[in-house]
Amino acid sequence: MDGALRILTGGCVCGAVRYECSAEPALIFNCHCEDCQHFSGAPCTTAVIVPEDDLVVEGELTRFTTVGDNGGVVHRHFCPKCGTPVIVKPEVFSGMKALKASSLDDSSWVRPQMDIFLKSKQPWIELAADTQKFHEGPT
Ligand SMILES: [Zn+2]
Ligand SMILES: [Zn+2]
Repeated sequence: MDGALRILTGGCVCGAVRYECSAEPALIFNCHCEDCQHFSGAPCTTAVIVPEDDLVVEGELTRFTTVGDNGGVVHRHFCPKCGTPVIVKPEVFSGMKALKASSLDDSSWVRPQMDIFLKSKQPWIELAADTQKFHEGPT
């Protein structure tokens, strides 16, 4: 983070879902788990963790719940009209939610601090040198 307060705004492709968050992200990480690969349609997903009390969502999200291979329950919220994954709520994150970096209006400032679930990372993905690296989730 560079210290400048940003209002995070974003939403889905069709525009039915919009959100705004006035808090700075607590953490940003890339998750390489198999569920994130499937759900995002990408080799990993970048999660921007924010306090849920500071997050205002407009529009309806549908939820699909998965249990990760470490036993963690994860609620994956997406737009029912266009299918864009927007917000992820791992139950282990009390009081926090994960915005999909791909759903931000501007994600060019995002700098992931961690790479997690590297045990299922695709071999053709190169990691940034300066992230903390975890075989599974951080402990
Ligand atoms: Zn949509
Ligand atoms: Zn994941």
